[in-house]
Amino acid sequence: MRTAVYPGSFDPIHFGHTDIAQRAATLFDRLVVGIYARPDKHLRFTVDERVALARAVLEPFANVDVLPYDGLTVELARSVGAQTLVRGLRVISDFEREYQMALMNQQLRPHVETICLMTRYEYAFLSASLVKEVFDAGGDVSGMVNPLVLAALEEKRRRIDGGVGCPGMG
Ligand code: ADP
Repeated sequence: MRTAVYPGSFDPIHFGHTDIAQRAATLFDRLVVGIYARPDKHLRFTVDERVALARAVLEPFANVDVLPYDGLTVELARSVGAQTLVRGLRVISDFEREYQMALMNQQLRPHVETICLMTRYEYAFLSASLVKEVFDAGGDVSGMVNPLVLAALEEKRRRIDGGVGCPGMG
């Protein structure tokens, strides 16, 4: 059984992520999308919300599971029996960070390999932070995220506008 982990913040999951997950799922028997609970980023969604959205969006892919994690990505890989980490590469500027992380993970667990899948050119510009920025500025993000994610962004905005926003969420 070949298992891979596709880790990230997924705040929220967008079409660029879904495309990488779908393509990686054809290369492995099982793909575990690991949702990192506490990235060093300003988060819009809680880890439970990010997991629920990713599960709903990736539900059509039978061999894809979504799990939250805290701590090292290589530990998540060990706990699910994965030998491979999958990451997506957009532009040249992603490379430096991905390279650094791959080498660090190699140090931590030498037999876990990292593979990077190139984005599709139509998603090369797409990032979760840009989705949030465009949405917040009143732009149409329906071509970038699943309708469920769009609904969650709208719901979050309603809660924040209504003063029910959760602490720590932007
Ligand atoms: P992280 O906080 O770990 O960078 P992200 O949720 O931003 O997590 O991204 C998770 C992974 O998906 C990363 O490998 C990232 O490069 C990749 N990714 C993000 N957006 C795209 C995209 N538009 N096309 C392909 N891969 C992408």
